[in-house]
Amino acid sequence: MNKKYEYIIIGQGLAGSAMAWRLYFNNKSFIIIDSQAKFSASKAALGIYNPITGRKNIKTWNAETLFKELGTFYKKVEKSLEIKILYEKDIYRPFNNNKDVNDWDTRLGNNKYKKYLKKIDKNGIITKGSGYLDVKKYLKETKKYFECQGRYKINNIKNEDLVNKNNNIVIEGYNFEKIVMCRGINEKKMNLFSEIPLTPVAGNSIKIKSNHFSDYILNKGVSVFNITKKKLFAGSTYDNGYINEGTSHLKKKIKKVINKEFKSLKSYFGIRPASRDRRPLVGKHDVIDNLYLINGLGSKGVSQSPYCSKELFDYIENNKKINKEINIDRFKS
Ligand SMILES: Cc1cc2nc3c(=O)[nH]c(=O)nc-3n(C[C@H](O)[C@H](O)[C@H](O)COP(=O)(O)OP(=O)(O)OC[C@H]3O[C@@H](n4cnc5c(N)ncnc54)[C@H](O)[C@@H]3O)c2cc1C
Repeated sequence: MNKKYEYIIIGQGLAGSAMAWRLYFNNKSFIIIDSQAKFSASKAALGIYNPITGRKNIKTWNAETLFKELGTFYKKVEKSLEIKILYEKDIYRPFNNNKDVNDWDTRLGNNKYKKYLKKIDKNGIITKGSGYLDVKKYLKETKKYFECQGRYKINNIKNEDLVNKNNNIVIEGYNFEKIVMCRGINEKKMNLFSEIPLTPVAGNSIKIKSNHFSDYILNKGVSVFNITKKKLFAGSTYDNGYINEGTSHLKKKIKKVINKEFKSLKSYFGIRPASRDRRPLVGKHDVIDNLYLINGLGSKGVSQSPYCSKELFDYIENNKKINKEINIDRFKS
């Protein structure tokens, strides 16, 4: 007789890991199954969380709620794993031109931006409320932790493994009540949630060795930060589709920003699962009663996954409504 679980989570990127920890903190039984995909988005992620993002430097959606949840959540994970994974770091954004200066002047007239200002001078601005998650360590240690408890299996769950029995998914060899799909961009090919507009956004990041040292995350078209005195993490590129465009463009940008020689140590490639309206995709399948989804984390998996796991958990276990801006019902015809 197979052991019975309340939940099965398919996929252990940022989405699946957040759901697993959410269930763990709430004493629910679960098992994670992951296929160890080579190009998962999470494996390439720089791990930055940042309340003011994008080319236009606008305040990120739902920043207050997301960032409050992020702090509480990862600190709880750190306590369970007895390791450090979350690092606060301010962001230094050098100005490119007078337009940048004027744009920041306008933004700072608004209280929602002012509270993130640390320092400004004629060369650039330092903003606060940001930092990074050591995603690689988080994923690795999460896997190890749950593996030791018998809550983790390596397997590729294909559509033919999913059998519909009275509008419920069953998988041979597993006994569970609910299934949460966290398969990143692979979900698009599986087509279980066919109405949901998932789009692939490929990207590169790179670890480098250099004498450049800064306490800040340096952001100028590219983000660069020290993970040790001589090692830095830098990225990212954004290319619609699945193609790996390589790191040469990224390297040119890094050279321009740090203005120092550097040596590449390791490059990463991944495909972000993005949604049409750039909001996460969370909810329950239209027809299948025990099938749920967390996806569409786009370029903000670190800050959005803890919140999404909370919204889904509260919906399933506490009868709360999912925020309609992230609920997959918004795409139902
Ligand atoms: C270059 C780059 C830089 C980035 N930088 C940042 C950043 O600084 N900050 C930030 O917040 N976000 C960043 N992101 C975005 C972030 O990586 C994504 O938002 C996030 O990783 C998405 O997580 P996910 O769990 O949905 O998907 P994924 O990370 O793709 O995980 C999906 C998981 O599902 C598993 N899986 C897939 N199919 C199956 C199957 N059939 N059976 C079993 N398992 C399966 C895979 O093995 C994988 O582990 C970056 C992304 C890239 C590519």
